[in-house]
Amino acid sequence: MNPHTNRDPFPKRVEKALDDGFLREAVRKTQNKLRTGKKTAETEVGNWEDWRLRAEAIRRHTIENLDYYLDRFAYNVEKAGGHVHFADTASDVLEVVTGLIREKNARSVVKSKSMVSEEVELNRILEEMGVEVVESDLGEYIVQLAEETPSHIIIPAIHKSRKQVAELFSREAGEPLPEETRALTRFARQRMRHKFLQADIGITGCNFGVAESGSVILVSNEGNARLTTTLPKTHIVIMGMERIAPRWTDLDILLSMLTRSATGQKITSYVTAITGPKRAGDQDGPEELHVIVVDNGRSDILGGEYQDVLHCIRCGACINVCPVYRHIGGHAYGGVYPGPIGAVLTPLLEGFDEWEELPYASSLCGACTDACPVRIPLHEYLLDLRADEVEEKRTPLAERLAFKGYAALTERPFLFSAAAKGGYLASLPFSDEEGMIRQELGPLAAWTQTRDFPAPARRSFRDWWKQEGSNEDD
Ligand code: SF4
Repeated sequence: MNPHTNRDPFPKRVEKALDDGFLREAVRKTQNKLRTGKKTAETEVGNWEDWRLRAEAIRRHTIENLDYYLDRFAYNVEKAGGHVHFADTASDVLEVVTGLIREKNARSVVKSKSMVSEEVELNRILEEMGVEVVESDLGEYIVQLAEETPSHIIIPAIHKSRKQVAELFSREAGEPLPEETRALTRFARQRMRHKFLQADIGITGCNFGVAESGSVILVSNEGNARLTTTLPKTHIVIMGMERIAPRWTDLDILLSMLTRSATGQKITSYVTAITGPKRAGDQDGPEELHVIVVDNGRSDILGGEYQDVLHCIRCGACINVCPVYRHIGGHAYGGVYPGPIGAVLTPLLEGFDEWEELPYASSLCGACTDACPVRIPLHEYLLDLRADEVEEKRTPLAERLAFKGYAALTERPFLFSAAAKGGYLASLPFSDEEGMIRQELGPLAAWTQTRDFPAPARRSFRDWWKQEGSNEDD
């Protein structure tokens, strides 16, 4: 069953993740490795902040002129012999893909990693059509066999152990396979080769689309994207409309920032640039190239206060430093994009109705903002989204009344002082000699289950200041 269509409530998802010791350990180890890799890359570059400023400026200029650059990109894709389809919604994307599948009478599809295809639940729809879909990225292949969705945007199977992978692959092979990395990758490679040769259509995402040449850029470490784009007769690219780089010189900066921020690599093993379909004299390549440019909620963000979130280059660096992700992993977020970027982007793309808890899935420590290579103010956006929810009266009535009451008190010094004294007296039966409330108490229970709550002080700050503060002036 597809987790995107079978979501437990958010607290339940979090509880389940917190109970999964293996998941937390696996995430911790990988986060540490990726974070260290990025730190080393930053040090090697030296003037990392200058690179961040440059990358931010490129993304800002691109997004502010997105209509112009999308138009140029589309013009150049078609000039090179490709076809461009603009899709406003997820249904529009599916309509184009399923239309092409019917037109080609395709029975099998190989895919390389595409988060936008997760947004539109492409695999489920194709399988319902009776089309065989095989994910060719190793991590994606693992989560596909497990009937799950990716739990990280660059390491989809971060939550799986070698033992679990061996079980999945053994089931697929119809025989027991050893829990040994080489044997498992050998099995995946052999299985995949066969599928590449059979596939009628290859579907990929797009890391960047270069406007000045209409080229589609794919970044990978496994070489699967090249086989997906060259062996099948038809190649379909599914690209978020914001993934544009105006020029090759801009791509130079953006690619450097992407790979260094994602894994600490100077460059990934494969960077593939596709400009149009196969030409006369080419040894390989698809006969047809279709690029689907996907909106799916993005143009609602354009021009608004959260526009900078469209600068995202999907490196995953914010996820790799997030203490909340470290404890709950990716699936607990419930959407396609986990971590801080998901907590901001998902409610913006899909609305608060299903996602109102996500802006609260953050400690607001700001590590995500500091890590972001294009300087998206993620933690500030999370606060702004919380403010939006308050504006829309989405917070519980009791919380709203409590804050109204607090506001009324702070506006009246006499009442505030009386309430502080009353609070101290009222808390006496529940606080210990250190002035902490450690028992589960009414609305405080959720807090005191895991933390101590400081009881109101005997002497308020205002009283202290009256007596001690004035002495210090002397
Ligand atoms: S928000 Fe920034 S750090 Fe996070 S994935 Fe996007 S570009 Fe990377």
